[in-house]
Amino acid sequence: MRQCVGTVPGQGAVPTHCPYCSLQCGITLQADEPAGSAAANDPPPRRALTLAAQDDFPTNLGGLCAKGWTAAELLDHPDRLLEPLVRDHRDSALRPASWDEALARVAEAFTATQSRYGRDAVGIFGGGGLTNEKAYQLGKFARATLRTRMIDYNGRFCMSSAANAANRAFGIDRGLPFPLADLADADAVMFVGSNPADTLPPAMQFLESARSRGARHIVVDPRETNTARGAHLHLQPVPGTDLALANGMLNIAIREGLIDATYIADRTSGFDAVRRSVRLYWPDRVERITGVPEPDLVRAVRLLAAARSAMILTARGAEQHSSGSDTALAYINLALALGLPGRPASGYGTITGQGNGQGGREHGQKADQLPGYRRIDDPLARAHVAKVWGIEPGDLPQAGLSAYELLDALGTDGGVRALWVVASNIVVSAPRAAHVIERIKALDFLVVSDIFLSETAALADVVLPTTQWAEESGTMTNLEGRVILRKAAIAAPPGVLSDLGVMRELAARLGRPELSDVPRDVFEELRRASAGGKADYSGISYERIAAERGVFWPCPSERHPGTPRLFQVDFPTNDRRAHFHPVEQKGAAETPDETYPYYLTTGRLLSQYQSGTQTRRVAALNEAEPEAIVEMHLSLARRIGVTSGDLVRLSTRRGTAVMRVRAGRGIRADTVFAPFHYGGAGAVNLLTNPALDPHSKMPEFKACAVAIEPVGLPATPSP
Ligand code: SF4
Repeated sequence: MRQCVGTVPGQGAVPTHCPYCSLQCGITLQADEPAGSAAANDPPPRRALTLAAQDDFPTNLGGLCAKGWTAAELLDHPDRLLEPLVRDHRDSALRPASWDEALARVAEAFTATQSRYGRDAVGIFGGGGLTNEKAYQLGKFARATLRTRMIDYNGRFCMSSAANAANRAFGIDRGLPFPLADLADADAVMFVGSNPADTLPPAMQFLESARSRGARHIVVDPRETNTARGAHLHLQPVPGTDLALANGMLNIAIREGLIDATYIADRTSGFDAVRRSVRLYWPDRVERITGVPEPDLVRAVRLLAAARSAMILTARGAEQHSSGSDTALAYINLALALGLPGRPASGYGTITGQGNGQGGREHGQKADQLPGYRRIDDPLARAHVAKVWGIEPGDLPQAGLSAYELLDALGTDGGVRALWVVASNIVVSAPRAAHVIERIKALDFLVVSDIFLSETAALADVVLPTTQWAEESGTMTNLEGRVILRKAAIAAPPGVLSDLGVMRELAARLGRPELSDVPRDVFEELRRASAGGKADYSGISYERIAAERGVFWPCPSERHPGTPRLFQVDFPTNDRRAHFHPVEQKGAAETPDETYPYYLTTGRLLSQYQSGTQTRRVAALNEAEPEAIVEMHLSLARRIGVTSGDLVRLSTRRGTAVMRVRAGRGIRADTVFAPFHYGGAGAVNLLTNPALDPHSKMPEFKACAVAIEPVGLPATPSP
């Protein structure tokens, strides 16, 4: 068995990329091995890791956020898993084991489960931080090695609603259809449920440059975020009413003659149905639904319509709802009516969150997809991918369950009985977390691959320690659709294996055809598998990525320059036009009542990332945001009888959590905000509602009804 696959010795400063978010900032990393050796009984001297920002990488231009600057701490962290762990029986503790023992346990469990319950009783849950090579290989491992249809990933919880909307309207889903730097040239930008000042700080240089020459920025968010503070106009809607706000803005644009009739006639279809549907969204009605004053709505429409170039950008605040797909469509309708998509420095886009949130959803980790963003139910797509994989199309499984549906059915008749979780911490990140934990405990077998013992790994029967960002090469696709190469910069510690290596070893133990563990070889196969698909990577090579600082997909041949800007000529739909879709305001699946009188919404903090498995272990980040907080308006804090620093208990119909109050004037008085980075008693997903969007299967993370009491009072009962 080969260990530490994909590593290179640390030599000089190696250009690579940050391990965290979708900006994939360019950094360099240098490892200097310590001189001499340690005295007996002393710990071995540690290598010095020097991390710097790349001044000329196009998304960060020398900037990094606090997470990026401290990312090297993850590499030699004392909590790092450096050997596999196994549990002898359900009640015993995890103990160290050899790779042979751990992999044999996994292979035996998968084989026994499939022979007893059928192929679909083994499932895989992947992650949006995995490289394209890993995401591709995981899809192949599920469908060609295990032949199970049960694979989905945590990106379902992030990007699926915007992806669904973009596919329906534009015929393609690429988060930003233009380079990020175009933001500097946009005269007006509306951010809907997006807070780049905290989530993508280096990107703010493009916005600041635009503001300095007079560009206008509008923020739609129930909170006065750092992005909202610098904006020209801040609209604070009731959670779950973003759709009505968009329809109301389109109503105003039509009424004031601000729509682009020529663009609508030449480049779109379906506008008449949308024009009829938004007639009911007259401004004072929209004010009553959203809480946004009519004059502000009118101002926002006029700002966008008057600008020479304008963008509408949505993010999770608008999308993580049970009507998130329709909400994204409502903003696409507005952008199309104003004639924005395809115009210079203009358009609609969605801001991806996870590091490979874009690429992770293109190459087969999703339950309903094959590589190249192909549909798994398309016979031509099945034939193409089956040929690349050397199997019969009929041997490819059909679509499986979406992420929450898969978790909800764990351990049940017909559900998954043995689950492999790869680089995802579902105990913290899935909605209705206590229920998800119950379902995990009902599994016959759980194996988790991770770099640290996450809350999910702590429940596993087998834990597999893996390589991490700077220790392995692989491509990522950033929020712009730019495919970049995250190069191995240092050697991995002994005892860990790459995810590709784990798949290779497991496939061998399962008696199936060999899988490569060499990232470049996997990428070459991915190129062939994606050829002709919507996300066509066939013209992209490691050499081109290095020479061109990334290549934008689609790139269908080695002579093709890549596609930084989509939609300039037409749209990749059947009729080459963008499609309007009439959509109606439905609101959150759960709204406040007497027992649960406030809205709870969730999101991210500047100093933490996702479920916190990594960032809660970095000293400076942990010091900045060490525990779960709940942000509320001062007037609400007074009503509840608490002040900043007090502990409160939050209760919803799904559970309770305890958090520390952060009171201020920036948030709506009927809404509280809590970040989702924390486990244990402060885990906000103990509270969230798994009501699913019918199109995307996105859970409603962004709105549910909550009760709040000072800790010390009897708890509100959770039915
Ligand atoms: Fe890393 Fe994102 Fe911060 Fe850049 S903005 S340094 S990619 S976490």
